[in-house]
Amino acid sequence: MAYEATWHANLKVRPRRLRLSQNMRRLVRETGLSPDDFIYPLFARHGQGVKLPVESLPGIYQLSVDNLAAEVREIAALGIPAVILFGIPEHKDWRGRENFAEDGIVPRAIRAIKDTDPDLLVISDMCFCQYTHHGHCGIINTPDNPHYDPALPRGYLHNDHTLDLLQQASLAHAGAGADIIAPSGMIDGAVAAIRSALDNGSAQHVSIMSYIKYASAFYGPFRDAAESAPQFGDRRQYQLDPGNQRQAFKEIALDIEEGADIIMIKPALPNLDALSHLRRNHTVPAAAYQVSGEYAMIHAAAQRGWLDLERVALESLTCIKRAGADMIISYFAKEALKWLGA
Ligand SMILES: [Zn+2]
Repeated sequence: MAYEATWHANLKVRPRRLRLSQNMRRLVRETGLSPDDFIYPLFARHGQGVKLPVESLPGIYQLSVDNLAAEVREIAALGIPAVILFGIPEHKDWRGRENFAEDGIVPRAIRAIKDTDPDLLVISDMCFCQYTHHGHCGIINTPDNPHYDPALPRGYLHNDHTLDLLQQASLAHAGAGADIIAPSGMIDGAVAAIRSALDNGSAQHVSIMSYIKYASAFYGPFRDAAESAPQFGDRRQYQLDPGNQRQAFKEIALDIEEGADIIMIKPALPNLDALSHLRRNHTVPAAAYQVSGEYAMIHAAAQRGWLDLERVALESLTCIKRAGADMIISYFAKEALKWLGA
């Protein structure tokens, strides 16, 4: 005999109706993933025939320029519209010369990508931490530095000297064919400085995607990949404190005022509040960077059998999009599209 409920809920609205079957769930789903959502990160380095695995990022490699073509063809075949490019220079120095050299690793890599597929958008990360011997994102106030100013704190990042370098490097990357310059150093005035350099340097067609970047411990594996760990101190004098929301909102508004075409929130999952704010309060496209630590921890737990790699990866990407991302930079991009059968 069937158990009889004693409480007869007289419900007009039963939200569970819309979750009953797979096809019903498909029909009412608000957020889905498609190739259009993704940007794939690439790490370029000098040499020939190099494909160096990054230990803490399973499936991710540092590639020499000659190996980029095959990678680019795979990315384009999956329908991914854009890559974001990071370079590992041959030599590091106090001002990161290779970032603004025309034969630097990034300009060379951009040309190789564009030779293979002129339509694939190239976003060029614009920062100095990979190029400076101290691993900071610009010129640092130390006595061995020609810009040393004893009136300023030691170790202070020289904001405005750094802007000069960002302008030069942006022109070098744009000259090589970058479609989007992505300043990531949280240097005050970077967007305005780069916009002005591009506009005065025959590159008004090049867009700017500005990072809103927290000083996060989730970047650990990236620093292996890009060989960019700071040699002293940390980046908290310029990147956002994870305890702060209003400062993120202020940075978003400032960068838009300065001319940013796209705003990117980084890391993604810990900062969905900033992403959602961006989507609800501004009209520029919103990007989110699912960073190396977000990728590595899902992989690490999956390797131990603690999490289901595919389901957790797709869930986190879906939720990043649901929070407001128009585009997601993710190391999972290629795999996600294969899983989705897109
Ligand atoms: Zn940096």
